This record gives sequence, C-alpha cells and structure tokens, in this order.
Amino acid sequence: MARVLGIDLGTTNSCVAVVDSDTPLVDPVDNGRYTLPSVVAVAEDGRHLIGRLAKRQAVINAENTVFAAKRLIGRAFDDPQTQAALRTLPYRCEAGENGAVRIVIRDRRYAVQESMALLLRELKDAAGSYFNEEISKAVVTVPAYFNDKQRQAVKDAARIAGLDLLRIINEPTAAALAYGVLQAGDERRVAVFDLGGGTFDISVLQIFDGTVEVIATAGDAFLGGRDFDDRILESLISRLEREHGISLQSDRNAIQRLREASESTKIELSDRNTVEVALPFLSARRDGTPIHLQTTLKRDSYESMVADLIERTMQMFSETIEGAKLTFAEIDEAILVGGMTRTPRVHQQVAQMWGRPPSSGVHPDLVVAVGAAIQGSMLMGDTANYVLLDVTPHNLGIMTLGGMAETVIPKDTTIPTELRKTFTTVRDNQEQVKIVVFQGDSRRIAGNELLGEFVLSDLRPAPRGTVRIEVSFAISADGLVTVAARDVETGREQTIQVTGSHSLEEDEIRRMIAEHQEDLVATIDDAIDSVISA
Ligand code: AMP
Repeated sequence: MARVLGIDLGTTNSCVAVVDSDTPLVDPVDNGRYTLPSVVAVAEDGRHLIGRLAKRQAVINAENTVFAAKRLIGRAFDDPQTQAALRTLPYRCEAGENGAVRIVIRDRRYAVQESMALLLRELKDAAGSYFNEEISKAVVTVPAYFNDKQRQAVKDAARIAGLDLLRIINEPTAAALAYGVLQAGDERRVAVFDLGGGTFDISVLQIFDGTVEVIATAGDAFLGGRDFDDRILESLISRLEREHGISLQSDRNAIQRLREASESTKIELSDRNTVEVALPFLSARRDGTPIHLQTTLKRDSYESMVADLIERTMQMFSETIEGAKLTFAEIDEAILVGGMTRTPRVHQQVAQMWGRPPSSGVHPDLVVAVGAAIQGSMLMGDTANYVLLDVTPHNLGIMTLGGMAETVIPKDTTIPTELRKTFTTVRDNQEQVKIVVFQGDSRRIAGNELLGEFVLSDLRPAPRGTVRIEVSFAISADGLVTVAARDVETGREQTIQVTGSHSLEEDEIRRMIAEHQEDLVATIDDAIDSVISA
C-alpha cells in the first residue's frame, strides 16, 4: 500500500498526517512537535531556515523571514489585498515580470510558490524520516474560498517541492471528513467553522450513506488570527508612540517583537482574564534612552478591540446557513477548526448562534491534515467508505455586452462538473468573440476576479444574433477550471486551461525544482550558530 501525505498548508502553522494501517497519524515535524510554523528564512550564508528555527530568529532577521506567504499566493502584486497584506509584513516584495508577487530576500527573488514549496518539502521530509521511506504522493488542503489562481499556485508549489499532488481539497471539507470518518453515524448536517491564522472559512456539509457532500461554502481569505494580533499590536504601538513621542514604524525589530508579544498575549487571554506584556529594551529614543514596554491587557478590552472581526465571522456564518436554505436548528453538528476557535468569545458566539455548544472533538490544529490523509488513502483505494463531493465556492462565467458577468457555473455546484451555455454575436458580420473568464459573485465584470481571456476567431459572416457559440466550463476535482468556446456550426474550438497570469512558466518551475534539489537546508542542530550570527 502506497502511503499518501495529507498536508494542511496553513498561513501560520502547517501539519502533515498519514494513514497507517487504517489509522490516521499526525507526524511529528519540527523537533517532535506536531505543527510546523509556516515560516521560512534565509540565513547570512544563504541556507534556508524552516519552521520553528525560522520563527525563532525572526526578531533579529525580520526582513529576511517570510511568514504568512499564503496570504500572497496566487495574487497580483498590485491587488489591493496584496498591498494590504504587505503593509503588515516586514519582508520586501516587488512585482515580478508578469505582475505576480516576488519576495526579495538577501537580493534573491523568490516566487511565493517557492517559499511555500520549502515548507512542503520540509513536511515531506519529516514524514519520510518518520516512516523511513520517501513518500511523495500528497493531498494538500486550501481554504474553500481559494480561487483558481491560488489553487494553481499551490499546485506549482507542490511540484517544486517534489510532491506528486493527487488532489487539492478544501480545508473545512477535510475537517468534516476526519470528523465523519472518525465518528461515523447516521445522516447529519455539519457546519465547519474554521478560523485559522490567516483565513476564515465556513462550510455546511451533509454526511449520509458513506458520502460527505459540501452543500455550501463561504469565507474570507483575509480574516484570521493575524488580524486579531494586529489589533493588539496597533494598540501597543500607539500607546508607546504616545508615551514616548516617537515613531516605531521603521524599527523592524521592535515591531517584530511587538508582533510576537501580541500573538502570545492573545493566546494567553484564551486562558486568563489579565495578561502582562513586558518587553524590556524594545527600542530607544533619539538620545539613546532605552524604551521598555510594561503593561497589562484584560480579556474584556481585547474582546472589544476584536468585536467587529468576530462579528464578521458570525455574519458570514448566518449568511451561509441561509444561503443553504437551512436554519440553525437543522444543523446537527458544528465543528470548530483552527487555533483561533480556542478564543472563548468565538466559542461562545458560535454556541449562541447555533443554540448549542459546538464540538471540537478532533484536535482543531490537526484535524485538517488528518482529513487530507484520509482523502489520500481513499484515493489510493485503501479507505473506500466515503465519497467526497465538493462544491465550487464562486460563480464562474464570462463577460457579456456592457461589461456584465454571465454565470455559467453557479457557486455551490458540486465538482467535478462541466456545464455549457450558448452565446451569440452582438454585431453583423462579427468575425471573432473575446471570451473573458471571471470568477466571483458580482453582477458586473469589474467586481469580479478575471481568470483569463481568449479569442474565438474566423466566425462565418452573418447577421448579429445568428452565430451560435457554445461556451463550456469544466472544473476538475481539484477546483481547477478549463474553458472552451465552440462555433456550433463550424465546430471550430478554442480551449484554455485557466492557469492565471501569475502562474509560473514551465521553465521557471523546472529551474526551481533543480535549484531546490541542491538546496542547503539547515538542520535543527547545525543551524543554531548561523541563526545567532544572522
Ligand atoms: P491555525 O492556522 O489553525 O494553525 O491557527 C493559528 C492561529 O490560531 C494563530 O493566529 C494563533 O495565534 C491562534 N491560536 C493558537 N492557539 C490559540 C489559543 N489558545 N487561543 C487563541 N488563538 C490561538
């Protein structure tokens, strides 16, 4: 039986699981721990530091340490969401040739896919050494709300890491799968509320007759633990700036220390009502006088700082239930996934909205990787009990006259799928049509994400409205999109796999595979010195 890695590639932490003798196991990845911080750094001598090692040296090497890269994957540099993310990230990014984000570290440019590939390879190697065999088949999870470009980028990252990617599945789907398999029972509806480090997803699934079917999904790729950390961070910065009459914005090390303190304060506030924040010698005034931070934060003040963020998750929760034409009473289980759901206020609000306490039976940090491993085992035919039916998270379609968005595959359609619609010309003797493919929920094209475009030419001369063009959309089980347009009369056809303009070119991927094969990755022991000297 070939083993398959189940990989949860998280914004903050990543995790790998493998089904071994019918039992899903989470593999220790980082010095015996079960999660790997999704952090990559480059030391002075060019070696890559990965995971906890990278995270630990972030304070002294902030601009060469990449974290939360998942927020950038598959996005254009000038995308407002990218720009918003970059304002809070200490490393430098610039636009690559095709407008994609390039991370600049020690004068070398990394594709975002490359930095994710380093994490994937670390997880692969950790599982390989745990089982004492090379395991390269993998199922990797992504937020349900990831669009086609983001999924393509994850696919590229997996290739660079030397993985044979069997399937990309949605994180909440994986969670429900783990839950469904581990606690099989009667037919029931499950809501998965997943609040992680960088993203929020909500999905409603139906589990029946050995089938896990996603019936609705929604999410926000820019709402997660980091936004909560940022609220604490902003309050600490403004407090220090007020007290000392200085600007801390250019002091990257101070900001990094404050960021770490913000996150650990947030985590501690899940267990305690008051937390002390002490950061001696944080920065210095112009005259060299040291600045120390010494303060306390109470849980209720923190809760009011983040009330609007929690409210946004609740709003999306109820909209998704309504969108699935259900009521909360018809949901049999609510599963909490992601480290942030350990926040008491989040737990309470979910309980209040659903009317019962939610379950967090399977460990919220590990459940997604376990589900991915189960899916991997199913794909190898080793666990035949469950069938997975996922849905597409966005409307998909083409632009029509006047910049309108015409949907061909509506959101929440079960995938894989193929649907067609027939269009016609708008002018007499029109020789060609431009097919502009979008993904999104706005009625106007401008409000959606453009996935690509192509031209179907050599149409026969005819009055407008008479040439029929059939446009078909196919979505694979990974959520990847192929679009074809066909002149119904002549049979002439144009097809594109929507790879997105920010995907890596084949030769770039090959170069990265070759480069990273010879890559020097620091091991836990031998990197300690370079960390200190960096
Ligand atoms: P994940 O992406 O699921 O690994 O979630 C990571 C996020 O959960 C990060 O923002 C962590 O700071 C946060 N987190 C982890 N543990 C806790 C906790 N006990 N209370 C609140 N947030 C937590």
